[in-house]
Amino acid sequence: MGKITGFLEFDRKIEAYAPVEERIKHYKEFTQPLEEKELKNQGARCMDCGIPFCHSGCPLGNLIPDFNDAVYKAKWDKASEILHSTNNFPEFTGRLCPAPCEEACVLGINEDPVTIENIEKNIAETAFEKGWIVARPPETRTGKKVAVVGSGPSGLAAAQQLNRAGHTVTVFERDEKPGGLLRYGIPDFKMEKSIIDRRLRVLEDEGIEFKCGVHVGKDIKGEELKNDFDAIVLCGGATVRRNLPIEGADLKGVVQAMDFLPQNNRRVDGVKDFENEIMATGKDVVVIGGGDTGSDCIGTSIRHGATSVSNFEIMPMATADRPKGQPWPFWPMRLRTSSSHKEGAERFFSISTKRFVGDEDGNLTGLITSEVEWVREPGKAMVLKEVEGTEKEWKCELALLALGFTGSEMTIAEQLGLEADARSNIKATESDYKTNVPGVFAAGDQRRGQSLIVWAISEGRQAAYHVDTYLMGESELPLKGEGDLPRV
Ligand SMILES: Cc1cc2nc3c(=O)[nH]c(=O)nc-3n(C[C@H](O)[C@H](O)[C@H](O)COP(=O)(O)OP(=O)(O)OC[C@H]3O[C@@H](n4cnc5c(N)ncnc54)[C@H](O)[C@@H]3O)c2cc1C
Ligand code: SF4
Repeated sequence: MGKITGFLEFDRKIEAYAPVEERIKHYKEFTQPLEEKELKNQGARCMDCGIPFCHSGCPLGNLIPDFNDAVYKAKWDKASEILHSTNNFPEFTGRLCPAPCEEACVLGINEDPVTIENIEKNIAETAFEKGWIVARPPETRTGKKVAVVGSGPSGLAAAQQLNRAGHTVTVFERDEKPGGLLRYGIPDFKMEKSIIDRRLRVLEDEGIEFKCGVHVGKDIKGEELKNDFDAIVLCGGATVRRNLPIEGADLKGVVQAMDFLPQNNRRVDGVKDFENEIMATGKDVVVIGGGDTGSDCIGTSIRHGATSVSNFEIMPMATADRPKGQPWPFWPMRLRTSSSHKEGAERFFSISTKRFVGDEDGNLTGLITSEVEWVREPGKAMVLKEVEGTEKEWKCELALLALGFTGSEMTIAEQLGLEADARSNIKATESDYKTNVPGVFAAGDQRRGQSLIVWAISEGRQAAYHVDTYLMGESELPLKGEGDLPRV
């Protein structure tokens, strides 16, 4: 432990944001980095707990007190080595993770938790700045070929781990560039795409081949992939969107969030001509659904210059503090307010959209809602009930549906004869990531359902261990939390 009294001396401090009126004029990241001295103080707040509960919160098993201590001592190279030993892409999680580790931090019992996520981001950024993140291709190749389908965080993590083990890895991606939801879901103001490109260059230099614009299942059939490769890892995400099948859902102006957000990310990337351009400019926008996707729609609509942005959530408003039934160190379902929420959106809770309203040309002009409440009847599960007399009409020309995902696209699974689970994802357990077909594995959202980047990276790493074991009989790749220090 670095500074025994650190947590008593220093208050929690994280990066500030640029003022709203400035940041909404562009799509760049808008955090304002801390000075090195302040970052060291933040590292010094870590108590190096006998039982570091932060570990229990982190799906990657990041060695958190160890890198906190290294940061306090300004040993950034050591901090980077420790961090990369369990996490292939800390520059992604350091920007985008909801930080379950911080909710589990012991200091969080009666103080503000250690700023683990921000420390992680700064370690990664320092390492890139100093040129410590360089390609480390394997010394020998095994002669085995692995296909990774999907280039989101799970596919990228699986690919890097398998390449490190000496296998020849090809990543297939149906989009024009790799990155998955990191590139075509999450807006640039949360993570600029140069951050992905910087890491991809390292992966390519290590020998991983990326084949973009290739839709596996259509352009290459399952059988062909099976014949050409010794193992396949399916990391295609959970991309089937949930609809809102109510009256008026086919009106022009009722749009899926995952049509709106990818188009905007492409626009920011320089793409100009879109068949159906979706803009929020000058419109009253309603974002239906909370969560990350809803929040990203809000920030994007505001940058487009929407007249107003309202956000509807069917659940009641949570409390800002931990609810009583969700004590430390568990992940609490508390009210989360993102930087986008603070940019001018109004949030409404316990509200349900009953129908969309349009004009004679089929354009959306408004929607009808009512308030709802969850009611428990004796011996029955909670049910959602409309509160009588609360119907309301809202003016709205663009309704963005951010209602989550119902499962993954199963064409390739069907071609390979894979079993699906009850939630329309590929069936494979967390114990070995194997599907019912030998040599075919699944990881990330395509296996566990819509989740988080940190889980996707964790699953990609773990799946790689099991693929390596399948191919070689044993594996030296790390299991969760073990780290692979000698390799980085
Ligand atoms: C708008 C939005 C915002 C989010 N924000 C956050 C956040 O702030 N923090 C966080 O932790 N999580 C966030 N998430 C969740 C997070 O992005 C996902 O959990 C994570 O990206 C899943 O990674 P993955 O690799 O499993 O799949 P994905 O990232 O979905 O990548 C799957 C890739 O596979 C490709 N693919 C699919 N099928 C095929 C095929 N047949 N052939 C070739 N390629 C194929 C897809 O094109 C895609 O590129 C967000 C999700 C969304 C939708
Ligand atoms: S739980 Fe918090 S204080 Fe304890 S070791 Fe982890 S980060 Fe440090």
